[in-house]
Amino acid sequence: MREVIVAGNWKMNATKEMTNTLVMGVLNGLSDVNAKVIACVPFPYLSQAVALTTHSQLNIGAQNLNTNESGAFTGEVSAEMIKDLDVQYVIVGHSERRSLYGETDKIVAEKIEIAINNGLTPLFCVGELLSEREEGNTEAVVGRQVRAVIDRVGIEAFRDIIVAYEPVWAIGTGVTATPEQAQETHAFIRSVLADNDNDIAQSTPILYGGSMNPINAEELIGCKDIDGGLIGGASLKADSFLQICRAG
Ligand code: PEP
Repeated sequence: MREVIVAGNWKMNATKEMTNTLVMGVLNGLSDVNAKVIACVPFPYLSQAVALTTHSQLNIGAQNLNTNESGAFTGEVSAEMIKDLDVQYVIVGHSERRSLYGETDKIVAEKIEIAINNGLTPLFCVGELLSEREEGNTEAVVGRQVRAVIDRVGIEAFRDIIVAYEPVWAIGTGVTATPEQAQETHAFIRSVLADNDNDIAQSTPILYGGSMNPINAEELIGCKDIDGGLIGGASLKADSFLQICRAG
């Protein structure tokens, strides 16, 4: 039985005050939540969020990392730095990183590798563009993205990876994949993992992301191969985020 995981992606939204209010708001509502809950906050607020959540049910994650261990990479943040802040999770390969910052499958795979080598748990994002879905290429694209990481780190590494299927056309658009569309692609992702190791495929969490909200969360998370959600917009309000957490 896979546990339900609900992760919030705050993206580039935070202040010290907002971090305090949002983290405390989520913490105050977690007593009746069974899911594992993660908040992925911007780098400058990681320490603050970690300090607020020590020994709590709310886990903290980062949103990106560099492919190198250390060195002359001005403005970048390493896996070791994230780990040093007592942060366990890191989003890798989000579609905004792929489309706005040129992250290829190769770069994403390198990031997954360095995250794992440093004891971090990657939230590994995959997903197709609207044009790719319309051309019937969803499985080709998502399969390529997943296989690029398997080829680099091996299937065993998926014991420590959380996959997030995020159709790009559903991210931040208010358009959600139907439960049938999402379930179909989640089952496909699991089959790609199963081609390499069926036990690992059955135990790997695969989250859905893309305009998940308190109204659609229960039906999506109720699907056989959907193990929770990666939440953007709705994670910025404690109430809506907690409602999604309770749907799991
Ligand atoms: C995301 O950015 O990962 C995401 C799913 O965003 P939203 O929930 O706003 O679509």
